[in-house]
Amino acid sequence: TPHLTPDPAQGAAVKAADRAHVFHSWSAQGLIDPLAVAGAEGSYFWDYEGNRYLDFTSGLVFTNIGYQHPEVVRAIQEQAARMTTFAPAFAVEARSEAARLIASHTPGDLDKIFFTNGGAEAVENAVRMARLHTGRHKVLAAYRSYHGATNTAINLTGDPRRWASDNGSSGTVHFWAPFLYRSAFYSATQEEECARALQHLEDTIVFEGPAGVAAIVLETVPGTAGIMTPPPGYLQGVRELCDRYGIVFVLDEVMAGFGRTGKWFAAEHDDVVPDLMTFAKGVNSGYVPLGGVAISGAIAETFEKRAFPGGLTYSGHPLACAAAVATIRVMEEEKVVENAAHIGASVIGPGLRDLAERHPSIGEVRGTGMFWALELVRNRETREPLVPYNATGADAAPMAAFGAACKKNGLWPFINMNRIHVVPPCNVTEAEAKEGLAALDEALAVADEHTA
Ligand code: PLP
Repeated sequence: TPHLTPDPAQGAAVKAADRAHVFHSWSAQGLIDPLAVAGAEGSYFWDYEGNRYLDFTSGLVFTNIGYQHPEVVRAIQEQAARMTTFAPAFAVEARSEAARLIASHTPGDLDKIFFTNGGAEAVENAVRMARLHTGRHKVLAAYRSYHGATNTAINLTGDPRRWASDNGSSGTVHFWAPFLYRSAFYSATQEEECARALQHLEDTIVFEGPAGVAAIVLETVPGTAGIMTPPPGYLQGVRELCDRYGIVFVLDEVMAGFGRTGKWFAAEHDDVVPDLMTFAKGVNSGYVPLGGVAISGAIAETFEKRAFPGGLTYSGHPLACAAAVATIRVMEEEKVVENAAHIGASVIGPGLRDLAERHPSIGEVRGTGMFWALELVRNRETREPLVPYNATGADAAPMAAFGAACKKNGLWPFINMNRIHVVPPCNVTEAEAKEGLAALDEALAVADEHTA
């Protein structure tokens, strides 16, 4: 394996140049200490000191087939040798084939693919399509959501990062989506939570004025905000509200799509077909930036005679599309989606529930496929989070100590506020899944020390 020989001097040089010149996203530049990473393969990556980590984060939840899959690397190399780049307004084999393959897996009549360079840009364009299609302006989005960091996307986002937006709400209205563990509706059961959340959404539509609402945008399974699978019937209920009021239903599958939940798209669990569906990340395992919007027949028709005003220089870049074609073929041939469902149901799910029996710091285990969250709490009865909401510095110390314990055990964890997101690659093996669970088991002892 290349670069596995430790080379601390080179690591120090990489780190020094990073510290001197790289301005990192979402970080206080003086407070971060990024690991210098030397290489990656499959479910692992390693540093220059010779430490190897099992990646239970899939990067930023995008390496759905792991790092450096040889088929995808080869496809990128072949595309680079043949035609590295080309302008968007041409029919290019890699782009045509990527669109055809994506459309073969998207639900219903979501058969036209608008390519973007990532997730936020897909959300921007989906909202623009919905506004032009309906002639309306307002967009409804959920609290406890993440849709990206560009203008419209950050306004739709329902977490504190939205506060940084200096553009106001841009016609965005937030509502509460269902989440039984911390219910906004004080529900006792999933049925109650579903019914109350749908009533709340309809009230929001009515009070905002249905004739002005262009779209409802939801993550099929909200990811960044805590991996909260909606109760049965909720998404179907939203579909019905959209139909009743002539509103475009946008499902954001940037994180949940391409196998993450154990289906190609999470909407399949609920048999629901949105009007627009955004994707990115897993579409090509994040090897080259790519995202897009899958568009229904009715909305595609709107733009048959009238141009859709959108698209960037690199939209549908051949290298990114070639990576998507190879990734989707690998997923089909190696049954990666089936693997995510199987390992999720037979190893990760039962393993996490077993941890919850032995660790008082685990308040809830939830998820499906390769998409799980552990909610860490000080007290199971009160559900007080292990660290306060949006904690930093000393307040966040218990989670930081837990994270450090994971890393000491060779596991790279995804930590978000008081939660651990367990999101390994969708082609993770049973042995890797068990290795990660064992490392979590040890590290959770550190979190348990903070329970009361
Ligand atoms: N939508 C969802 C559901 C996401 O999880 C993310 C990123 O995590 C985005 C949109 C933004 O994607 P990107 O960072 O590629 O712009």
